[in-house]
Amino acid sequence: MNGFARGPWAARLAVGVLAIFAAGCGREEPPVSNSFAVMGTYGSIMLSGADRGRADEWASIAQNKLKELERAWSVFRSGSEVGRINAAAGDAPVPVSAVTRDAVAAAIRYGSLSGGAFDVTVGPLMKLWGFRSDVPPDQPPPPEAIRETLERVGFRRIVVGPNTVFLERPGMVLDLGGIAKGLAVDAVCEELRRRGARNFLVNLGGNIRVFGRVGPKRPWRVGVRDPFDREKLLGVLALESGEAVATSGNYERFVEIGGRRYAHILDPRTGRPVEGMAGVTVVARSAGEADAMSTALFVLGVERGREALRYVPGCHAVFIPDRRPAEAFVTGGLMRRMQPEIGWMLRMRSLDP
Ligand code: ADP
Ligand code: MG
Repeated sequence: MNGFARGPWAARLAVGVLAIFAAGCGREEPPVSNSFAVMGTYGSIMLSGADRGRADEWASIAQNKLKELERAWSVFRSGSEVGRINAAAGDAPVPVSAVTRDAVAAAIRYGSLSGGAFDVTVGPLMKLWGFRSDVPPDQPPPPEAIRETLERVGFRRIVVGPNTVFLERPGMVLDLGGIAKGLAVDAVCEELRRRGARNFLVNLGGNIRVFGRVGPKRPWRVGVRDPFDREKLLGVLALESGEAVATSGNYERFVEIGGRRYAHILDPRTGRPVEGMAGVTVVARSAGEADAMSTALFVLGVERGREALRYVPGCHAVFIPDRRPAEAFVTGGLMRRMQPEIGWMLRMRSLDP
């Protein structure tokens, strides 16, 4: 294997990335893990060292926090803050909580930073392509329908006030799906730290952030899934305290139209699902940033994605184009920290200048 054994505590919960625990050399206690279903996916927290004793208490705090954010941010609930913002599109600014205002402001920031590749107003396109219904359309939407829908897409038409959010055009739909889980992980981390947690990992559907370490001398490690074979890993990354990781892929959520699979990430410039990328994994200084950037880089692709990364300090990525032979393009900061699986060793390309 690649230098460390897989311990018995691998948590196979995440999408794209998963928390991994290798047995230490000494008589180290494994971390304690608690899992739960929330926000349409699985969440878990893992506590290590002295924090293990408060696992149950902190897991329920994490769950409550996540449920609270789910109630505020779900696009599916008409009573949610996002639901009310959408209902009032083109009509009136909607009073919102500070967390929701901050979430929308953060989403707009990643929109600008990615040159529009990340756009939380893709809602109408998600509907058009059938990502919001049980039965997808039997053909891709015609170009006129895409053009017409694009008129209701554009994060620059979101107006954030001191405590309001307003969508300027009727028919606009805010969809925080590309950033919500990451921001929720940050909110949970903040809450746990405030209560004294020091060595822990929070995972929400593959959006992971860690603090402290897993053992006295061992950092938290996460496995990055092979996008071509979900039973396998591409490699393992060691995370520093405070770092986060997220993956956007074309293999977990998609619709099938006319026998063809379309990933649930849309290119806001063309109005079409992104093609050409199998997966992008991002390491960043917060989970919200890792989540938004993984979605943005999935749209931008290797070359333009690498340019965008220059403006985001502490943010690194592994790009896996959807083609054979498989290759992974890794930005400089990560090449040294990634332990590839055997099958990927000769397929890792550095994106160093
Ligand atoms: P996952 O939700 O599976 O972890 P992502 O973080 O990549 O994957 O988010 C995908 C979600 O983001 C979609 O389901 C949709 O809600 C939203 N989305 C799709 N395309 C974009 C885009 N270009 N910019 C921002 N959000 C997007
Ligand atoms: Mg994302």
